[in-house]
Amino acid sequence: MDSSSLSFDPVYGFMAGGGAMGALMRGLDWSKTSFGPVEDWSQALKSAVTICLGSRFPMVLYWGPERALIYNDAWSPVLGQKHPWALGRPGWEVWSEIWDIIGPMFDQVMEQGEATWSADQLLPLNRFGYVEECYFYYSYSPVRGGEGRVEGVFTAVAETTSRVLTERRERLLRELSERALETRTVEEALAAAVAVLSATPEEAPFCVAYQLAEGGRLLRRLAMGGTDPGAALCPGSIPVGEPEASLLPVRDAIATGLPAVLDGLASRHGFALPGTPWPEPVEQVLVVPVLSPRSSEPHGLLVAGISPRRRLDDAYRTLFERAAAHVSTSILNAEAYAAERRRAEELAELDRAKTAFFSNASHEFRTPLTLMLGPVEDMLGAAPDAERLEVGRSELDLVHRNGLRLLKLVNTLLDFSRIEAGRVHAQVQPLDLASLTAELASTFRSAMQRAGLEYQVTCAPLPEPVWVDREMWEKVVLNLISNAFKYTLAGGVAVRLEVAGDAALLSVADTGTGIPPAELPRIFERFHRIEGQRGRTYEGTGIGLSLVQELVHLHGGTVQVDSAEGRGSTFTVRLPFGRAHVAPA
Ligand code: ADP
Repeated sequence: MDSSSLSFDPVYGFMAGGGAMGALMRGLDWSKTSFGPVEDWSQALKSAVTICLGSRFPMVLYWGPERALIYNDAWSPVLGQKHPWALGRPGWEVWSEIWDIIGPMFDQVMEQGEATWSADQLLPLNRFGYVEECYFYYSYSPVRGGEGRVEGVFTAVAETTSRVLTERRERLLRELSERALETRTVEEALAAAVAVLSATPEEAPFCVAYQLAEGGRLLRRLAMGGTDPGAALCPGSIPVGEPEASLLPVRDAIATGLPAVLDGLASRHGFALPGTPWPEPVEQVLVVPVLSPRSSEPHGLLVAGISPRRRLDDAYRTLFERAAAHVSTSILNAEAYAAERRRAEELAELDRAKTAFFSNASHEFRTPLTLMLGPVEDMLGAAPDAERLEVGRSELDLVHRNGLRLLKLVNTLLDFSRIEAGRVHAQVQPLDLASLTAELASTFRSAMQRAGLEYQVTCAPLPEPVWVDREMWEKVVLNLISNAFKYTLAGGVAVRLEVAGDAALLSVADTGTGIPPAELPRIFERFHRIEGQRGRTYEGTGIGLSLVQELVHLHGGTVQVDSAEGRGSTFTVRLPFGRAHVAPA
């Protein structure tokens, strides 16, 4: 029967057109269905069929006491695999899985003649071999026949599953991106993702976050949400190198940087984890790496149970990929925030150090100035009107000595600022470092004796000359020995120059106050001084060691300190032989 001849058919004419469904309907033996032979159909049914088949909007009729189905092409996809089997069959048979929901609605329409209205109603259909979370927008309306009796139900329906899911997922991702602004650490970012994802169990019946630790060797569980997946599936830690340590495809996800799926969790692997809020168990688990833009290794993994009522299609997968991308962004933000704070702290610290420096430097200047002004004022006071002054030798000596001390201080400050500005280069020449060092060290001998300190200087001749800038080396040696003198109240100081491999090694060891361990890392910082350190004097600017370090670096060398509080300190300078590491003058 072709449709053009049907338009003249007095019996089948109302079924004309209607695409594939029209053809199916015309080919069906209706006498074997609850509708009965087409010749006997009521006018109301024929009209309804004409409207249904002729529309491109999804429509379905549920007819008679059986609520038997007639539907059009546009509606047929709602049936999934039940199409075309469903045509002409009773509604309760076609929709047995949701009859408890829609059966009473049909009764209401059929018995009371009132239409229903459902917006985005959840109808868990089983149309592809599994119960699915689907949403529909529809109205069941009565179709009345002769005498106004309701003969069937007419339904215009739109499936809104994809819109409902899209909106839900967008909401979830929005929440994640809002959280991303607040998180300050990797741990917080992963925990926030778990909290947000598992708060919508329809998307993730459970969710677990792992952080990659120990240089990529260990996954450490940080957060869990939703159904407890148990330690057998999600242990507290997973050694990445041991394939049998976990059923989860963590190695794949880490190696490829792509999401990896575990299938058959319940059916094959025997895990019975409820797919809350649905009664079916979770069958699939998705492992998504949280990638780091700075490293080939991910920060960690998000492990999510997949809803037993949704297929893991592209859109569903994308949700988790985007969630992981949000976590990466939060981590990036957190790192930027931490770096910003560190910078601010460093600046504040430098500011504090500078203030301390100014106050220390002022004291350093004031002492010699006072020592100079005293005798000068005495002399002026002794002979207020004299043209020429009687000047005592010892007083002049004092003024001279302190003048030199001031000059030295000013020179040190200038040196330091020139080095800091990068304007200083070492003018190296090959020198006999042993005799130079011994000579410099000897200038402290009488001061050490006066202070009752034992003083040992051991500078064995070196096998070759060392390329150094003489003035700079002087400053290094004098600074280290004067610090040792200053901070050693009893015991002694030992200065030693020796060979160590391809370098000359200078060590200045004392039995002084020592340096608290917490201060050791900062000891070479400019302006840094240890508060309350017991020494011979309290004077100092906190630039001596920083200057030593800069000077040693200009020679391609290193300086180190070993110290034990209350027992003493040893400063060691290592200067490589040769001149390869010294910048050309
Ligand atoms: P300062 O002018 O204060 O001596 P430095 O840069 O030379 O500045 O030294 C920084 C700080 O390191 C000193 O304030 C002191 O507390 C500590 N220090 C330096 N050398 C020694 C040492 N040999 N023994 C104990 N503490 C030392």
